[in-house]
Amino acid sequence: MSLADDLYRETILDHYHNPRNNGSIDNASATVEGVNPLCGDELTLYLNVSPAGLIEDVKLMAHGCSINTASGSMMSEAILGQSVERAEEIIESFKNMMLTKSDEVAFEDELEELEALRGVKKYPVRIKCALLPWNTLLEGIQTAKSTKKE
Ligand code: ZN
Repeated sequence: MSLADDLYRETILDHYHNPRNNGSIDNASATVEGVNPLCGDELTLYLNVSPAGLIEDVKLMAHGCSINTASGSMMSEAILGQSVERAEEIIESFKNMMLTKSDEVAFEDELEELEALRGVKKYPVRIKCALLPWNTLLEGIQTAKSTKKE
């Protein structure tokens, strides 16, 4: 196992043991539940989007495996404070990284940590675990957009 693999594994374990933005939001712009029946992962995502379209707050309650919890934690850090458009781009890049065979997708410095999850591709059955928070976020963004107060 290379040094990079070790660092990646440590990153994932750190997020699993200390999930960032863990909790719930009262009166969130969107509250969405995601389930991955293959593994038994369940999570609830709370999202607050400002009138200007910034992700002001995001919280996650995850009851799932280490990959699911770590992925959600990393995602919350990556998108907090970003515009909805930017968050959608990050989701797209992440899904590309996990779903394409090539290793060409790379993240710029501040999102580099997300690449720790690239190793999950070696275990195809776990890819859905890593993607669940991201697909749930996408649904949350759609919900927040459609219920946006004028
Ligand atoms: Zn899982």
